[in-house]
Amino acid sequence: MVAVTIWNEFRHEREDEAVGAVYPNGIHEVLAAALADAHDVRTATLDEPHHGLTAEVLEATDVLLWWGHEAHDEVSDAVADRVHRRVLEGMGFLPLHSSHYAKPFVRLMGTSCSLQYREDGATERLWVVDPGHPIADGLDEFVELPETEMYGEPFDVPEPDRQVFVSWFEGGEVFRSGCCYRRGNGRIFYFRPGHETYPIYHDAAVRRVLRNAVEWASPTEGAPRTFGERA
Ligand code: ZN
Repeated sequence: MVAVTIWNEFRHEREDEAVGAVYPNGIHEVLAAALADAHDVRTATLDEPHHGLTAEVLEATDVLLWWGHEAHDEVSDAVADRVHRRVLEGMGFLPLHSSHYAKPFVRLMGTSCSLQYREDGATERLWVVDPGHPIADGLDEFVELPETEMYGEPFDVPEPDRQVFVSWFEGGEVFRSGCCYRRGNGRIFYFRPGHETYPIYHDAAVRRVLRNAVEWASPTEGAPRTFGERA
């Protein structure tokens, strides 16, 4: 079992009726339900003390999922530092959708992480471009999501180590929707789907991707990391 922490900003769901209708108990609870069968899951939200991400919680976390949107700046630098450090130590990190601007992700990437977007409820086809990758396990050749917010290239991130998904949108744009990185000992998978007004995290194929990604990003024992002068 992988020790998973799901972090959610949890503001839209409480402030906006349309979002509350899709995710009445918060996006984090729907993500938790998608993973709880296979993994040991806890949740944390922005308005808890230390955003629910104390040193103890992060120390006990193998893989951290992150959903943020309107309050990236309210995440304290101390917590962003802790997440950053834990990723370098080996914690898996899965920033979702609008978390391309999450403080820890931007730090880990070292670029602006900007992109184009249009909220028009158009169809997205999430094409598997690396069919042998473990994150694509059990999927069809593409996942079709009938109502989405478009994200378009250019996506200002470093070249991914592996590209698992590329999205096509009805409006003609494309986007690198599933990007794998290594930073230090940690594995990072950025996954695009998940706009708050559409029931994306209720979709069976999307939930499959999340379960696969948790397995992929979970830490391995590895060899010791020793630095500094050698005796
Ligand atoms: Zn969105």
